[in-house]
Amino acid sequence: MSPEFQVDLSELEGRKFTCIDGCGLCCLCQPELLPNEERLFRSKFPNMVVLKNEPHRHYAMAMKKGMGSCAFLNDRRCKVYNDRPHFCREFPFHIHVGMRAQVQLDLSCRGAWVTDGEDAMTAGAKIAEDAKEAINHTLYESKRVYREFFDNCHESGIDPDPEPMQALVRERLEKMTYLPYLATVLEGSAEDEQIDLRKLRVPAELDKSAMRELESAALEGANDSLGAPNAFDAPVYCDEANRWNVFLSEHGRFEQYIIKDSGDLEHVRSVDPNAVRLLVPDESGRKVMADYLRILNNRDSIIGSTYYLVDEYDYEDYFPNVYLGVLSTSMLDMIWRASLIAHVKGTKLDGAGVREGIIYYDMDRLDGPSIGAFI
Ligand code: SF4
Ligand code: SF4
Repeated sequence: MSPEFQVDLSELEGRKFTCIDGCGLCCLCQPELLPNEERLFRSKFPNMVVLKNEPHRHYAMAMKKGMGSCAFLNDRRCKVYNDRPHFCREFPFHIHVGMRAQVQLDLSCRGAWVTDGEDAMTAGAKIAEDAKEAINHTLYESKRVYREFFDNCHESGIDPDPEPMQALVRERLEKMTYLPYLATVLEGSAEDEQIDLRKLRVPAELDKSAMRELESAALEGANDSLGAPNAFDAPVYCDEANRWNVFLSEHGRFEQYIIKDSGDLEHVRSVDPNAVRLLVPDESGRKVMADYLRILNNRDSIIGSTYYLVDEYDYEDYFPNVYLGVLSTSMLDMIWRASLIAHVKGTKLDGAGVREGIIYYDMDRLDGPSIGAFI
């Protein structure tokens, strides 16, 4: 590794990874092409590459019917496997560059949940080693942006050091999986007063009206995050049978579709969002939830999202409020999606149920706006 920087790999500790045959979820992500990849694909496959103008001008793989998988995916196998772009080689690992580089694991990939496979730490270290030039280059620019952000914080009297908040959350991982606790954090983070996790007054139970309020906050978040205008922009839930499900918010209902391999949509069912109850995870569900919270609390991209919002809010909000707001809304969104899946399957929110919620949610969490960049 380059002597200029170290890469944090802690998220990968103890995890295994294997690519699951027939999954293809990452082939729905329309990989951006690096300049050398762009030259290769444009010369060899001129009709399979498209020019995109958002979020910046770049070339990317063409998608089947503009919204299905990558045009090179055939029977869930890559037709250009040996030449596949760097994005495809890295997935499900993502390198986040902020004040340092950190490798994060996309938990929407079912292959990141296996107990037998390649050691994720070894795979992540190799990916970081291969990307060291890009990391070095991006670090230089991102540190400049962070310094500017810290200067703005200093001028506004904000202490942006995340460590004290991260330590408080670390001590309360189990508590924060308890819905009354989560609801209290959510409510406190939106107050004008600075939230103090050590002094929270948490009710033993949520009464009916508090539960309705939490459900309506969760539904509002779900409408925002699932309310994509089309299947291409909607979050995809790859289920145990490797079906690519999307729930599109249409006329006040969630319409469930499956994206077919051909790029067509098949309608499955219509779901009344008000019939989806926010389920209370059982003990095994809370364990999976606590572990996910531990991962989010260590992610530099969550700190980057908090910084992004502090800047968006014109440096007028307390840092702990924004940080805890990001964490608690993320957990609530994930639990609501887990509840939606349990609702359509008729299952409970045990460990497996919460894991499905994370599989549905994590890719969107990683995609959240942030100061810092994924390379
Ligand atoms: S999402 Fe994961 S398991 Fe699925 S194809 Fe991609 S790398 Fe393989
Ligand atoms: S190039 Fe291959 S691996 Fe990459 S998105 Fe397309 S089909 Fe999937």
